[in-house]
Amino acid sequence: MSKKVLVLAEVKDGKLRQVSREALSVARRLAAGGEVAAALFGPGNGAHAEELAGYGAQKLYLAEAEALAVYTPDAYAQALTQLVREVQPDVILTGHTAMGRDLAPRVAARLQLGLITDCTAVETSGETILFTRPIYAGKAFQKKAFLEGPVFATLRPNNFAPEEQRTVLDVFPFRPEIKDVRTIVREVVRKTASGVDLSEAKIIVSGGRGVKSADGFQPLKELAEVLGGAVGASRGACDAGYCEYALQIGQTGKVVTPDLYIACGISGAIQHLAGMSNAKVIVAINKDPEAPIFQVADYGIVGDLFEVVPLLTEAFRRV
Ligand code: FAD
Repeated sequence: MSKKVLVLAEVKDGKLRQVSREALSVARRLAAGGEVAAALFGPGNGAHAEELAGYGAQKLYLAEAEALAVYTPDAYAQALTQLVREVQPDVILTGHTAMGRDLAPRVAARLQLGLITDCTAVETSGETILFTRPIYAGKAFQKKAFLEGPVFATLRPNNFAPEEQRTVLDVFPFRPEIKDVRTIVREVVRKTASGVDLSEAKIIVSGGRGVKSADGFQPLKELAEVLGGAVGASRGACDAGYCEYALQIGQTGKVVTPDLYIACGISGAIQHLAGMSNAKVIVAINKDPEAPIFQVADYGIVGDLFEVVPLLTEAFRRV
């Protein structure tokens, strides 16, 4: 049976997030010929309507209230709750981003809906939608389904192919009643080494305690720059003060799923693997041939990262 699917899309730094395109592609599949609607919150975001239409959105609910200019849990939760009540979708999807993680449970609780978070795969079996999500820090996966709808799920970025399909888009201005907002965002300070968002980066060059100092990250930054990727780190490197905690990947850091993950001077502790083992291709550079990271690596280079990384950078510069 066809379904009505609503995707809460997200704009960051003036750009539509990749996970929103991915969510629309999933939405099209789940709608099965039904309705694919997107919602965008924040003034000026109507500029992204065409892009949403390029990924199959047929309707856009555009809430441009000033109160939605930056994410605040109370304003966004009020807006999305009202939108879901109005639109009555069968399925609600959003990215498992910092915003999605914070917002989805609030709205699910307000609407008394079930919620499945951090989904890495979505499939259908008859009328049932099956969501796959990692458990035990990525050591196992569980499949979950809802006994009754509506279905609300957050999707892990970089796990679904964004498929283009142009549709005719109708834009509906949406004016939620937002009151008693107790949160004021005065300033947003971002701590990333490069302009590339770690959670959506296609290529990540990551450093561990083996980089030995903050300066030791310089060759990794150069390699990341040449590859158009982002720099990440193990907790070992963060704890040692070599880099910001914003770069930490792992169980208590960010979970990433890039196409290519280059681990430099990282031993491969289970807590680190929890954040990166789903990368499509893993390259490990470590001078210890027994380092556990080699067990999950597709390609391993046994050697000193300070020799290997500059050689790689040089080689990629020539390509
Ligand atoms: P090490 O284990 O010290 O490894 C350094 C590696 O660098 C070694 O393998 C060494 O052979 C290699 N090396 C040294 N010099 C060179 C060189 N010149 N060239 C090449 N290789 C070299 N860790 C995370 O990363 N993320 C998390 O989210 C996380 N969460 C945790 C949560 C909990 C509750 C706990 C208990 C731990 C957590 N940890 C996490 C820590 C984790 O257990 C490890 O301690 C940490 O990942 C180790 O970091 P590392 O691999 O950089 O350092």
